[in-house]
Amino acid sequence: MKYEPINFTCKGCGASTRFSPDTGLLSCEFCNATLEIKSDISQIQTHDLDGALSQLDINTPKEVTKEINCPKCGGGFTFGPHVASTLCPNCQTPTITEFVNNIVPESIIPFEITHKKAKEIFADWVGSLWFAPSELKHLVDSDKKMEGNYLPYWCYDANTLTTYRGERGDIYYVTVQKREVVDGKEQTVSVEEERIDWSNVSGTISRDFDDISISASTTLSDKLLRAIRPWDIGKLRPFDEKFLAGFESQEHTIRVDSGFDTAKNIMSRVIEDDIVEDIGGDEQNIDSMNTIYMDKKFKNSLFPIWTTHFSYKGKEYIYAINGENGKVTGERPYSYTKIAILIGVIVLAITAGIYYR
Ligand SMILES: [Zn+2]
Ligand SMILES: [Zn+2]
Repeated sequence: MKYEPINFTCKGCGASTRFSPDTGLLSCEFCNATLEIKSDISQIQTHDLDGALSQLDINTPKEVTKEINCPKCGGGFTFGPHVASTLCPNCQTPTITEFVNNIVPESIIPFEITHKKAKEIFADWVGSLWFAPSELKHLVDSDKKMEGNYLPYWCYDANTLTTYRGERGDIYYVTVQKREVVDGKEQTVSVEEERIDWSNVSGTISRDFDDISISASTTLSDKLLRAIRPWDIGKLRPFDEKFLAGFESQEHTIRVDSGFDTAKNIMSRVIEDDIVEDIGGDEQNIDSMNTIYMDKKFKNSLFPIWTTHFSYKGKEYIYAINGENGKVTGERPYSYTKIAILIGVIVLAITAGIYYR
């Protein structure tokens, strides 16, 4: 399907503009003119989750192939699946189009880490790795660009009320008489032994949750995304396409109900800790818990992430940097040659030590 680009050209010179993470402004690439992006955080709304769950048929992510013409060179190209903004493959001009899912992002954490800063953070991180292959250090020194991605997230609120049943264990000590052999003579001695007094308990606890953020796409693994948390929800701004200029962005592919199931797992773990505290004593068992979720709300948001890829010995490694706070992560490859050389050096040193003794 053909889509129209949403165009932000410079009013002064007609060149294309890009969002600058360091200034938070839309800037002209050519004449340095800037444009402010209006932001009224009171506009950020949350929506009733039960309402969205009752209309899952229309709230399911859509599969649409978006064809578009670059706003600058006019060349036609096709967006990747679920992509809403990217760079023209011919001339690298920011190309933005509309989100097609029924639930669209209404808030966004804009990039604060610039591309230059992201490369520095990545270089420092790679520099700190022991036994990283030289090829990875070459990647750092190369002019390969990192990719700036806005990935979709669900943010959930809920007030919970949980009833539970379990057991509380209180430790006490008893003195018992034992026969023991002391200095070759059997005699009776007194020893302290630990006992636990278990009693049945039950109770009700409540906890309110605010903005539990859950990835709404499978673009990056959960492991990577967990490692670059936390996200500062206080940085959310009302959505504006201008933030996307120069970055790739994606629509959600994980449904709003699946996201909430994941959020419930996270909430359960917090509630279990609350129950343990509520039970008190020295040991606790939870036999059953039943949670009611009330005032369930959600919003769909975009979070900024820098990524880069590295192929080494037939394996693909992905690195991610939180575009708001600079937290970096990735699976690290090892250079077995470097490790073998070090082992060789150690063996040599030991052998030499023995020889010269
Ligand atoms: Zn200009
Ligand atoms: Zn182009």
